[in-house]
Amino acid sequence: MFRHPWNPASDLEEETSGQSDSMDVQTGPQIEDDRTGFSIETLRRAIADNLYYIQGKFPEIATQYDYYMALAYTVRDRILHRWINTVKTYREQDVKVVCYLSAEYLPGPHLGNNLVNLGIYPQVEQAVRASGLDLNALLAEEEEPGLGNGGLGRLAACYMDSLATLEIPAIGYGIRYEYGIFDQEIRDGWQVEITDKWLRLGNPWEIPRPENAVDVKFGGYTESYTDDQGHYRVRWVPHQVVKGVPYDTPISGYRVNTTNTLRLWKAEAPESFDFQAFNLGDYYGAVDTKITSENLTKVLYPNDEPIQGKQLRLEQQYFFVSCSLQNLLKIHLLREDPLETFADKFAIQLNDTHPAIGIAELMRLLVDEYLINWEIAWDITQEAFAFTNHTLLPEALETWSLELFGRLLPRHLEIIYEINQRFLDQVRLKYLGNTDKLAQLSLLDERRGKRIRMAHLACVGSHAINGVAALHTELLKTGVLRDFYELWPEKFSNKTNGVTPRRWMVLINPRLTQLISRNIGESWIKQLDDLRQLAPLANDPSFCHEWRQVKRAVKQDLADYIQTTQGLTINPDSIYDVQAKRFHEYKRQHLNVLHIVTLYNRIKHNPEIEMTPRTFIFGGKAAPGYRMAKLIIKLITAVGDAVNQDPDVCDRIKIVFMPDFNVTNSQRIYPAADLSEQISTAGKEASGTGNMKFSMNGALTIGTLDGANIEIREAVGAENFYLFGLTAQEVADLKASSYNPRAYYDSNAALREALDLISSGYFSHGDGSLFQPLVEGLLHHDPYLVLADYQSYIDCQDSVGQAFQDQETWTRTAILNVARIGKFSSDRAIREYCQDIWHVDPVHIKLEEYVQAKAALAGDHCLDANACPF
Ligand SMILES: *Cc1c(COP(=O)(O)O)cnc(C)c1O
Repeated sequence: MFRHPWNPASDLEEETSGQSDSMDVQTGPQIEDDRTGFSIETLRRAIADNLYYIQGKFPEIATQYDYYMALAYTVRDRILHRWINTVKTYREQDVKVVCYLSAEYLPGPHLGNNLVNLGIYPQVEQAVRASGLDLNALLAEEEEPGLGNGGLGRLAACYMDSLATLEIPAIGYGIRYEYGIFDQEIRDGWQVEITDKWLRLGNPWEIPRPENAVDVKFGGYTESYTDDQGHYRVRWVPHQVVKGVPYDTPISGYRVNTTNTLRLWKAEAPESFDFQAFNLGDYYGAVDTKITSENLTKVLYPNDEPIQGKQLRLEQQYFFVSCSLQNLLKIHLLREDPLETFADKFAIQLNDTHPAIGIAELMRLLVDEYLINWEIAWDITQEAFAFTNHTLLPEALETWSLELFGRLLPRHLEIIYEINQRFLDQVRLKYLGNTDKLAQLSLLDERRGKRIRMAHLACVGSHAINGVAALHTELLKTGVLRDFYELWPEKFSNKTNGVTPRRWMVLINPRLTQLISRNIGESWIKQLDDLRQLAPLANDPSFCHEWRQVKRAVKQDLADYIQTTQGLTINPDSIYDVQAKRFHEYKRQHLNVLHIVTLYNRIKHNPEIEMTPRTFIFGGKAAPGYRMAKLIIKLITAVGDAVNQDPDVCDRIKIVFMPDFNVTNSQRIYPAADLSEQISTAGKEASGTGNMKFSMNGALTIGTLDGANIEIREAVGAENFYLFGLTAQEVADLKASSYNPRAYYDSNAALREALDLISSGYFSHGDGSLFQPLVEGLLHHDPYLVLADYQSYIDCQDSVGQAFQDQETWTRTAILNVARIGKFSSDRAIREYCQDIWHVDPVHIKLEEYVQAKAALAGDHCLDANACPF
């Protein structure tokens, strides 16, 4: 028997199990075998047991990671009871379930979030301490699942959190990428991509369900036949079959029993008997097939924009969608519901067009496999599906060449032709003789080679279509989806994005959370509008003082982190001016740089100039093939190298590039910001969600009238928001009237000086060519109107610098921002989806008492030959 070093006395009690749990009275039922209680002693004991029995380690050889795993399993055990009761309830009560289909999820580390949601953070902290360990150190061990690129994947994760918290039955379906978004390192100022081996040390949060695997077909051909009743039918004879194995992760709600499922599919080779027989003797061939199959879910495409023409990407999309829909149909039939009621039981949401192939796949499953007639199948499909659009850029709309599509999915191509024919018949009736309309609405783009328009498929096959911010939805109606809006205005609605205050406030900013809760109670965590009660406190000097202390402490934390990780000293009393998001020309990180260089020039001209000290903090990844975005990263680090070492300026300007912006790292950044940079070209950012996270943590925004910025400004008050730049309409007008960026350069001395300094090689060891593509691009094309917005941005930043001098007013403004940010909770967004699109209601989950001994020994097993697909 080994001795836990943190509890030398415990070994005497090993034989008489249960004794040490006798203090459980206040938190759990006092039963002998309560191994999932919340008392500190029970938790401590569970961590020790899991280290031994799951990790197979003892303290002398255990790593911090082993202890993290032991703790993660301890927490998972406590979630499982809720999870099982949730699934059981959904099965038994025949409730309507939301199915969120998303090619990406960016949930961030699970452990801390689950502690918050279960309400056991303090107990676990103490239990960990009683074990001689530090909870923060263990939390830092978790590898986050980087199964998304940025905002879209993070939105899916926030929505899963809110669905569970609001007690809505939901399943999130996606792909279990073996390699998530790459890890970013900065070498010599350039981005370097490192493969993300997030599963290397195991994943304690997932449970594989190989018994629920499904087969997915690819390639081959179709053939028609007449069935016994004389019906015309089509059979798809595939070239290849891949097996999809579900891996389930529990998604806990905040202080509720509801624990929903995130079901991610992994591709494997099928192990059918036939396959073995046909390949007899061809062992290497069989192994090759296995490798090819597993490639399907090997890696996430690290691109924020649609990936055109990549066969593997289309395979990934179809793979996870087919697995998910087959799974839904199995669940439906298990509940003994007729197929006709499918859409009464499931609401399927398409997170962008990535899963839009699901419309053709559900039709195929219903018509070919379940032999439902086309019209009924189409009604079911349209009623079940709804579509969220995420982009305004016409060039970013996903299309697939007929050649590639037909080769991979021959049956779906036929189905899409049929859908299109019936759809265009409808259009023809409405717009008699208008052939332009037919061409514009068709699912097939006949120009530039024939291509399938996935957004059109999504619109035709869905009963609801939404944009993700008010401006975005309006621009959809007049822009990329205007013909569909004209045809079906009733299908369109806006659902402004939101983020979960559990992760983005409670978990990442405990100091602010405590300050708020001490003053207005805890209701805001579930009802974010209750933050309004903070508004009067903005005039309370002692509250404002405490607020400033909290912000100062959080800024000190980030300064300490930057000191430790980069050896760079920053001033926590300076403005933390932060732009953290994917690198993209439309997000205009280079506009931010032009401001920095402008300030630098001012100091160089006049070393004594009065200037509010600023720390410019950047974070974000660039798509590996996006050369301009990578050059902008290099520009930031190059300007940083010059500025941070320059004794004339470095007390007033510092530049920090925080490498590897992901959820984990973002959680240090959002709470520490004073100023949130939301400076995209108006009309380009669909919503943004980073803007909401900053604001919730008391940063003020400098931004354009783009995406959700507009609604944030309306909510917090125009006087509490730093607005600059052209409007979306002005952007469109300026572009239409042959925009000439060179004129801004010629007429603006400060702008000219900033661009010239970059061109001169000053930041590139005299190499004038390095940043030429960037500068030349701005002078000659500037598609995102950086130069047109330059002066407006500089003026606005000058007023920010002024305002920060008056800390009382700044703090008051920050408090009002937080007090009025309630609308941007993902709970609000999910309530709107539930009411307007999904028509689903909350289902309360009761916990049945679980007694191990009873479950194991009762003997009344129900051994179902068919695995429950739920
Ligand atoms: C919120 C978030 C984003 C989205 O940020 P935007 O500023 O809206 O582009 C991207 N990545 C991560 C890790 C996030 O947490």
